[in-house]
Amino acid sequence: MTVLSVRNLETFYGAIMALRGVSIDVTEGEIVTILGANGAGKSTLMKTIAGLMDPEKGSIELFGQSIAGLEPDRVVRAGVSLVPEGREVFPYLTVEENLKLGAYTRRDDPASDLELVYDYFPILKERRKQNAGYLSGGQQQMLAIGRGLMARPRLMMLDEPSLGLSPLLTQEIFGIIARLNAEQKVTMLLVEQNAHIALATAHTGYVLEMGRIVMGGPTEKLRASDDIQEFYLGKA
Ligand code: ATP
Repeated sequence: MTVLSVRNLETFYGAIMALRGVSIDVTEGEIVTILGANGAGKSTLMKTIAGLMDPEKGSIELFGQSIAGLEPDRVVRAGVSLVPEGREVFPYLTVEENLKLGAYTRRDDPASDLELVYDYFPILKERRKQNAGYLSGGQQQMLAIGRGLMARPRLMMLDEPSLGLSPLLTQEIFGIIARLNAEQKVTMLLVEQNAHIALATAHTGYVLEMGRIVMGGPTEKLRASDDIQEFYLGKA
């Protein structure tokens, strides 16, 4: 079943065309990764899907329903949660308050989801009464992912989860991302500069260059490609 279908998407910053006709698909249960250098348009693609930017042209469908041009809160209600680059947790709220905010679109009791988040991120349970501003970078990233889970998304979008983290913490976070996908069946769209770990974690990948998709397919195929090895995996 197709969760997300993006077709010929064009997004501008004023006169600058950041997305030049992007098409991607995300199938239920998959992790799909978007690879690309700085400035390729990865964040712009996420922001356009999340309703933070309006596309000039093209379509965005979630389970066959158009979400293009909807306000961000409507996109969240439709089932998409974005874990933004730089995390953006609320520093003066506690860890638990931050998590509960992630469930704001739901009327039911989020207690069982809190327990689920604490199962995957035990450190957040330990620190649940502390202000989020006191967490380390890695813990803030965990909090941002946990907050995204609280909405019980049908699609979770992760923008650069490894940004600013040590290799060890990056491994840990990606291990949890893979477990959430395998055990909780969370479908994910992952933007990541670290092509090694992105291709090892995701099932399907796309390469974005200067606003265009130039390659796409199963990650094992991408990993075998000479261009990917040379430009993204650093093998000569
Ligand atoms: P990064 O990894 O650095 O975040 P990215 O692949 O996410 O890169 P985008 O941030 O989506 O790239 O940027 C795509 C293009 O749009 C770039 O050419 C960038 O210079 C341009 N751009 C991004 N934000 C703005 C902005 N606020 N105003 C004007 N141009 C912008």
